[in-house]
Amino acid sequence: MEKAKFYTLPQLPYRYDELQPYVSQEQLTLHHQKHHQAYVNSANAILERLDKARKEGTDFDVKATLKELSFHIGGHLLHSLFWTNIAPPGKGGGKPTGTLSTALEKEFGSFERFKKEFSLAATSVEGSGWAALSFCRQTNRPIIMQIEKHNTNVYPMFTILMVIDVWEHAYYLDYKNERAKFVDAFWNIVNWDEVNKRLERILK
Ligand code: MN
Repeated sequence: MEKAKFYTLPQLPYRYDELQPYVSQEQLTLHHQKHHQAYVNSANAILERLDKARKEGTDFDVKATLKELSFHIGGHLLHSLFWTNIAPPGKGGGKPTGTLSTALEKEFGSFERFKKEFSLAATSVEGSGWAALSFCRQTNRPIIMQIEKHNTNVYPMFTILMVIDVWEHAYYLDYKNERAKFVDAFWNIVNWDEVNKRLERILK
């Protein structure tokens, strides 16, 4: 079967009201249906433009187009990771377990220390961006990335284990300008099982 040549918006693995009180139904609905969808649409529109230019043999602004494409594909991929590394309270939250727990303690000294560094990375991203926990296979170290927009400061080839979206569109309805409050709330909905699975998958 031929693979899809365009991106599609993934379904959330929970209902829009299930992340409350940490993320409201209205906030999550807009974020998924409007913002994430817009990155999918924009990436696809650029791919269509590229297909057309190649078919017709016309030129396009390569530098600007590739920059824009990276931005929108980055947005789509990071949101897709984000939706699945959070989960309704009860299922999400608490502390990491298994291989992940060991790796974080070895690198950071303790879970509390990791949580502090990751929170500071998230609250201090300049402008719009993400904090991401990634993993380097060459050194076997978990490394925190502070991604600006969707595609700047990304370490090539590092698998991403966990992300938090700290664009204002991710929290403004619920927390106004108080990004730190949203970052605090995030720890109550982290899907540690999924984050641990992502690590175990690459260590196999
Ligand atoms: Mn977002």
